[in-house]
Amino acid sequence: MGAKIAIVGAGPSGCYTAQALLKRAPDLEIDIIDAQPVPYGLVRYGVAADHQGTKGVARQFARLFTRQNARFHGNLRLGHHITLPDLRRAYDVVVLATGLAGDRALGIPGDGLPGVIGSGALTRALYEHPDAAALPSLGAHPVIIGTGNVAIDVLRLLAKTPDELHGSDLGPAPTDWLAAQEIRQITVVGRSRASAARFSPVMIKELAELSRVDLRLRFPDDAEALNTAVAATSGPLPVDFRFESRPVALEQVDGALRLTVETPAGPEQISASSVISAIGFVCDGALDRAALLQEADAAPPGNLYTAGWFRTGSVGAIPQCRDEAQALAVEILDRITPDVTKPGRAIFAAHKSIVDFDHWQRLDALELSSAPGNRCRQKITCREELLNPATHEDA
Ligand SMILES: Cc1cc2nc3c(=O)[nH]c(=O)nc-3n(C[C@H](O)[C@H](O)[C@H](O)COP(=O)(O)OP(=O)(O)OC[C@H]3O[C@@H](n4cnc5c(N)ncnc54)[C@H](O)[C@@H]3O)c2cc1C
Repeated sequence: MGAKIAIVGAGPSGCYTAQALLKRAPDLEIDIIDAQPVPYGLVRYGVAADHQGTKGVARQFARLFTRQNARFHGNLRLGHHITLPDLRRAYDVVVLATGLAGDRALGIPGDGLPGVIGSGALTRALYEHPDAAALPSLGAHPVIIGTGNVAIDVLRLLAKTPDELHGSDLGPAPTDWLAAQEIRQITVVGRSRASAARFSPVMIKELAELSRVDLRLRFPDDAEALNTAVAATSGPLPVDFRFESRPVALEQVDGALRLTVETPAGPEQISASSVISAIGFVCDGALDRAALLQEADAAPPGNLYTAGWFRTGSVGAIPQCRDEAQALAVEILDRITPDVTKPGRAIFAAHKSIVDFDHWQRLDALELSSAPGNRCRQKITCREELLNPATHEDA
């Protein structure tokens, strides 16, 4: 067919969309563009450091570039280095799969106080994203708001002993940071009943296997996985699950944060050294998501599409990205009308700072070979070194 498709975002949605398209039409010219010099989005910078099995999907995505002829154009940010009209002029189809990198605000008084941290910002810092802010101090009693899998990921990382992080790709600085927090208690707050919480039972089972935790439930319920975990744990680190607790306000009192929640027993207050919100993600403001969704809706059929978290909001894990990508590929191929005059990737010729997949393979090899014995990878962390691996090699 020879049609040209630009996919913006090399996370699971972008990669699965390319994979599904190339499976059906191997002669498509597919260019995957990412703002970062490295591919795979949240597989690298969101999925927990100790869940290497999940990160294994990256090996499958790599085949896109090594065997299926897709091209990676890293370090190319839509809205900064290139505009959407440029891409739409150059390609038969553009797919926006840029994810959602902003933390949804709690939306209660005090949610901007110092010590209130978004789980996205925290995990980006923990997993050494080049644009992440510094790791914050959490203090002895962090409170996590939210009971989805991201909340449980954060909880598990905070509760693990150094030995329990063996085999992960957590870097040396985040490892030292975790050890320095001296956390003595963790509270998890959620609005729903325990049996309606959004975490997967397997995530709770994993918590129950940690040596330090002592899981407790404020309002008992028939949540089977949680009840089993509560009965199985008796470590020195209390982890209080407070379901049916709707956050209504945050205040700073005597150097600590005070969270007020509405519960079936009336309002209650929880003292916290820090508050981590894990209640979903929104667009970080770099792109105008609402306008782009509208533009895609209004575009002629077979021209501009949105995919993944950027399209659906922050619901769904990696397998859902794959299912949606397969449906999207069918839709695109049904409607695409190739135009041989479109220049495609030739429009990137002037962008000398773009990095390609060979560049990533070099970084990947360096990261794997420099991993210490108790880690599977040591990430290169700063953008300058990501762009110039020789700097890292010589260091
Ligand atoms: C902390 C966390 C842990 C998770 N753990 C799991 C898990 O264990 N298992 C699981 O199945 N799911 C997990 N998920 C969910 C999973 O990560 C998402 O379902 C999936 O990553 C969404 O894919 P995406 O491609 O839509 O977005 P992303 O993965 O966010 O990819 C978007 C890509 O777009 C790029 N981009 C953004 N803006 C631009 C721009 N302007 N120009 C060019 N490129 C741009 C980004 O750099 C990124 O590479 C987790 C999510 C989070 C936040």
